[in-house]
Amino acid sequence: MKKGVLLAGALLGTVVLLALAISRLNNIAKPAMEPALFGRAQPLVLDAGHGGEDGGAVSITGVPESRFNLAIVLKLRDVLGMYGVDPILLREEDISLHNSSANTLREKKRSDLENRVSAIEEVEGGTLLSIHQNTYPSSRYHGTHVFYAPTQGSQDLAEHFQNSIKAALQADNERVAKQIPDTVYIMNHITCPAILIECGFLTNPEEEALLRDENYQRKLAAVVAGAWLTADK
Ligand SMILES: [Zn+2]
Repeated sequence: MKKGVLLAGALLGTVVLLALAISRLNNIAKPAMEPALFGRAQPLVLDAGHGGEDGGAVSITGVPESRFNLAIVLKLRDVLGMYGVDPILLREEDISLHNSSANTLREKKRSDLENRVSAIEEVEGGTLLSIHQNTYPSSRYHGTHVFYAPTQGSQDLAEHFQNSIKAALQADNERVAKQIPDTVYIMNHITCPAILIECGFLTNPEEEALLRDENYQRKLAAVVAGAWLTADK
């Protein structure tokens, strides 16, 4: 009996020592900023479209697009964080990024877009992922649509995201990744690889309800994060 207790004590002591040694080794092996374990090692910039006075489109239940965009971007950051990816967020609150010298709504919008482009261009070797929501005059359209900037590497990336979303979330989505219209300021003024995800249609009752649902937002974020993690390096 006593022998058994002694043996158990010795074993426990060994386990504790081993655990301590391993945790010390881990601490030594870990650099301050861990590189991404999966996917691309380059920095990822997340742009939650609109914000502040610029709410973007309005959903059929009256929710501004900017709110959907931010909710999804914040969840995307959480999921990516679990995989060692620490994205750069252009905004983390419901704000516009305009200069204080901008007065009219038009000036503020312009200044906000210019500042976003500058912030993106400052990130060396970065990739932009811009999150938006779609609308249409009739309620019949639904489904995520991925657009690419006219910059190198963007089309392949957009196709990968569109395919990933179809495979993991929307089996009936027949949309094909498309080049962004030249009227979309940020996507036509950056020089890095960039995609814009129109997550869904705020004018379709079923999809709008899904997009308001935190669980669906989390699912969507997980799928988009998965696409980033599996993108070609
Ligand atoms: Zn938008």
